[in-house]
Amino acid sequence: MGTVKKQGLSRTAGWLVLAALGAALFIQPGPAGAAAAEAGERVRLPAGMQVEHAVPAPKASKKLAIVIDDLGNDMDGTQEIMNMPIKLTVAVMPFMRTTERDARMAHERGFDVLVHLPMEPNHGKPEWLGPGAIMSSLSDSEVRTRVEQAIDNVPYAVGINNHMGSKITADPRIMSIVLDVCRERGLFFLDSRTNYKTVVGKLCKEKGMPDIGNQFFLDDQYNQQHISKQMGKVMNWMRDHDSCIIIGHVGVPGTKTAGVIRGSIKQMPQDVEYVTLSEFVRNQSGNPILRGLWP
Ligand SMILES: [Zn+2]
Repeated sequence: MGTVKKQGLSRTAGWLVLAALGAALFIQPGPAGAAAAEAGERVRLPAGMQVEHAVPAPKASKKLAIVIDDLGNDMDGTQEIMNMPIKLTVAVMPFMRTTERDARMAHERGFDVLVHLPMEPNHGKPEWLGPGAIMSSLSDSEVRTRVEQAIDNVPYAVGINNHMGSKITADPRIMSIVLDVCRERGLFFLDSRTNYKTVVGKLCKEKGMPDIGNQFFLDDQYNQQHISKQMGKVMNWMRDHDSCIIIGHVGVPGTKTAGVIRGSIKQMPQDVEYVTLSEFVRNQSGNPILRGLWP
């Protein structure tokens, strides 16, 4: 293991080395790219890797985690998302036709997998929920059993987020059980913020768990113009903030959402690094759950 300085290697050669490392770094030509390379002082290399010259690396101090919801049912955009050349996190619904396939495929691509747990909303049709949904009418033990079964059904899951769920995420009794199961399994919970009355953040803090939620939905309206506009907001946000979690979907907007994400990669500010959600969480300091339950 050694470190190398960046001087003396062309950007093209740097690209090749970075590709060999499998790093999801994107260097654009032009002054902005040069400035980013300038900022990337040192790069760690895997043990045994020989590099004679230095490797330019943009200092990717800002973290962007993109989460794609609603996988598990082979919906539109699934393949485009799986082929994305950046790190992503996919939320896979349990007990569905392609649950296991999608979770496995995502894991093989180095993406994070979440259980996309169906939860009762204040409004919306019950048939949108899918099997194994968490309902407010369930007893404590029924909630626990459903959460455990859902986790067991989605291979490689490192966390859970809610599918719909505006009613449940505001219910401290149920959310406390859901979070307790997460904690026991070493998983985190991402609050897909569907309700401003959510109690998830408060409970996570009380339980010493990471408090994470999304800043933006990319495709809460399905048209291309809106999705592009939302991505523009994300880029502006990243200029002023250190981190961001955004959520998009497969399904009706799926191929459009995937297209906008792919198209935005080259426009993203140079100091932004795409991370999986577990990397995002690990990057947060002071999370007791990480010290206690995670390697
Ligand atoms: Zn969903």
